[in-house]
Amino acid sequence: MVATAAAAKALGRPIVYVQGNIHAGEVEGKDALLALLRDLTTSQKPNALDSVVLIAVPIYNADGNERFASQSVNRTEQNGPELVGQRANAQNLDLNRDYVKAEAPETRASLAMFNAWDPDVFVDLHTTDGSFHGYALTYSPSLSPAAVFGGVYARDSLLPVLRQRMRSRDGFEIFDYGNFVSDERALISDTSVHEGWATYDSRPRFGTNYYGIRGRIGILSEAYSHDSLARRIASTYAFVEEILSLVAEKSQAIQSLSARADSQPMAWGRAPDSLQMIAVRSELLATPRTMEVIKEDVLKTGDSSFTQPGVPRGERRSGIFRSIRMPVYDRFTSTLDRLPPAAYVLAPPETAAVNLLRLHGVRVDRSDSAWSARGETFTIDSIITSPRAFQGHHEVRLKGSWQRGLQALPQKSFIVSTAQPRGALIVYLLEPESEDGLATWNFFDADLKKGGRFPVTRIFDLSRRGRAAPRRSSASTTQSPQN
Ligand SMILES: [Zn+2]
Repeated sequence: MVATAAAAKALGRPIVYVQGNIHAGEVEGKDALLALLRDLTTSQKPNALDSVVLIAVPIYNADGNERFASQSVNRTEQNGPELVGQRANAQNLDLNRDYVKAEAPETRASLAMFNAWDPDVFVDLHTTDGSFHGYALTYSPSLSPAAVFGGVYARDSLLPVLRQRMRSRDGFEIFDYGNFVSDERALISDTSVHEGWATYDSRPRFGTNYYGIRGRIGILSEAYSHDSLARRIASTYAFVEEILSLVAEKSQAIQSLSARADSQPMAWGRAPDSLQMIAVRSELLATPRTMEVIKEDVLKTGDSSFTQPGVPRGERRSGIFRSIRMPVYDRFTSTLDRLPPAAYVLAPPETAAVNLLRLHGVRVDRSDSAWSARGETFTIDSIITSPRAFQGHHEVRLKGSWQRGLQALPQKSFIVSTAQPRGALIVYLLEPESEDGLATWNFFDADLKKGGRFPVTRIFDLSRRGRAAPRRSSASTTQSPQN
């Protein structure tokens, strides 16, 4: 047992963080995680806890969990249990849409934990109520193309092995998370595709996508809501146990991946060759792989009564499963890449944005004097505000163009060097055209006007920052601005 982040780090083992119940109606994660903790800690035999540090939070959305109601109210498309918690937290926020804006205390505490303990792997346990498929569990790596380290490694090196082991050692078929296109068209722009399987969303408002952009591994686990509770607990238990075991086996590769993700941005300023493009917008890759996907036939009953919890009125499950070859859309591709500047500079009034960056573990300095440097500013051509509120926000999309020149930067500007761990996250959050950045979530609304300048400037070098503005590189990442 370790009590502090420093003690965990000192063990030199990979750190795995697993949470259940972020959507508190999706209950089996808490049972599976508690059972696994019991078994790992009381077992006399060697197990994964000899090789990894496990941080387990069985009930992440505690307030949602306490708002018990009938499953037919809180979780309509689920095969029991009878009483479950609600999806949202007590503020009515969906915690799995909050990882960028971080408005919920749960998210803010999570980010502080990520910064302090820095888990190599984050596993988020859910239940899916989508298509009728043949899998005990579906999973996803970080889908953001900006997740160049943990996202790709999980997708290509961990999840295929987990899928094989779940089949051969645990007796469960699992597959990449998705829905049949016939059930969920939204993401597929090609309307000639009638049969296919497609994943969800790449944006970091979702926890496991966010965690990939931090340069670490995120794994989404979705038990199958049409299975019994006992089977959902069993599949989730087996999946987490297999993850711990595989992470223990691959500890060296995973820890060096974490180290590389952190050191790469540090090299950006010194060696221009090392600069990597950061994807700030993306779309589902239009060239799918063709694979076999297991589908269950759902039959019309001819009357409008319920047959089973979670099955729509007038339909019943057939128990007939078919493997069908179809296009599988399981990954995203970048539609807008941005090269990291040496730094972003935020105008002095942008303290809300700065507070949020610090919460994300980003070091922000402040200039003591006015200075000038080569850089670029973004002139806003259009501000597209979503007419519909989502999580209490009207999301903003900006279009415009960059102009290069000498930038005059006022005293007390905030300086965010990209040469720090999470450099990719900094670019993603601060670029004006990012699909899920600070501009999206209204942090800059007061300063946005058509024809005006975006309040974040790109700076190409920090060397002329001036004598009166020494680097405060020792500043704590958790410090709040003083004003
Ligand atoms: Zn969920």
